[in-house]
Amino acid sequence: MKSIVLLGSTGSIGESALRVAAALPGCVRVTGLAARSNAARLVAQAREFGVRRVALADPVAAITARRLAPELDVIDGEAGVEELARTAEADIALCALVGMAGLRPTLAAMESGKDVALATKEVLVAAGALVMRRREACGVRLLPIDSEHSAVFQCLQSVSGEAACVRAAGADPSRFAETRVRRLVLTASGGPFAASPEIDFDRVTVADALNHPRWRMGRKVTIDSATMMNKGLEVIEAHWLFNIPVDRVEVLVHPQSIVHSLVEFADRSVLAQLSPPDMRFAIQYALTWPDRVATDLPELDLTALGGLTFHGPDENRFRCLALARQAALRGGTCPAVLNGANEVAVAAFLEGRISFSGIARTVEEVLGRHDAAPDDTLDAVLAADAWARRESAGVIAAMTEQ
Ligand code: MG
Repeated sequence: MKSIVLLGSTGSIGESALRVAAALPGCVRVTGLAARSNAARLVAQAREFGVRRVALADPVAAITARRLAPELDVIDGEAGVEELARTAEADIALCALVGMAGLRPTLAAMESGKDVALATKEVLVAAGALVMRRREACGVRLLPIDSEHSAVFQCLQSVSGEAACVRAAGADPSRFAETRVRRLVLTASGGPFAASPEIDFDRVTVADALNHPRWRMGRKVTIDSATMMNKGLEVIEAHWLFNIPVDRVEVLVHPQSIVHSLVEFADRSVLAQLSPPDMRFAIQYALTWPDRVATDLPELDLTALGGLTFHGPDENRFRCLALARQAALRGGTCPAVLNGANEVAVAAFLEGRISFSGIARTVEEVLGRHDAAPDDTLDAVLAADAWARRESAGVIAAMTEQ
């Protein structure tokens, strides 16, 4: 039995995690829930799972939750989410908060001795060096929930059983990946536009970009998937999780989203992990690792699929993928700036303030203005993130005046 505190419980990953927990009553117990602002849903979840202590980042939503459910202990504010991550009695903190909001709670969970199952890739993109150092100092594990990284993690189990598992999870700072792995290949659905080269990115609507062909996800990650920034962020995430240079992490477009990623080993054998495109597979694996537990998740039927196809990404068209690689190679605070600019630009696109192509233009402009600094402290990362958000607001304001 593992106990989990679920940070970001009312979003897409959070809801999927609760369905996994409900399907594995003898394996997973929920002891704490946190969300940004959806008080009604959070209260319903707390009642269904018998959770007594919850956190809401939005203080107004916390007042609503206290009124709806006087029996609950509701803590509020960003600091409240961090406090719940630190003080909840749990083996694992599952972090599915959106964007940089996940950083402090992730660090707090580690400092309190919890393993972290991480869905919020932005945390590793913006603060990978800091998070991995903190993980090592606290002696806890970092288990991937992103489907591609779960796939890589599962393939890495083949190397030498438990020892390799522990290394892949990062408990040992050995040169594991460097010596045994030639390259990682992250697959990408390509989003709604990869199959239609005639689409003009200046004219794409919000509804078009949110209409993902394979995955049902939150709005931020769905737009990132459409720009392919999501895959760029995932290249950086893989670099930190598996201690492998960015130039050995490749991207392959695979529209069916059945092969979730591949690992080529030193002996040039390639392993892949396959499943239907449903996040519950990756979530269950993170929560039950190193075990595999019987489930009623949908079965993979390869004969019904007709075929699996793969092709290289078009980085000229999907500029965000190239920008993420550039930021990773420049290093220091550049990935934090990439992430901060992207979060602001995606929000502006969703509000109808800039075009779809404006997302990549904003990120490129802000990255171009940035002088990289060392990213080894929380203050340095937060300062770079804040700078990127201010610069992006300026770039977007100039764009909308034109
Ligand atoms: Mg992913």
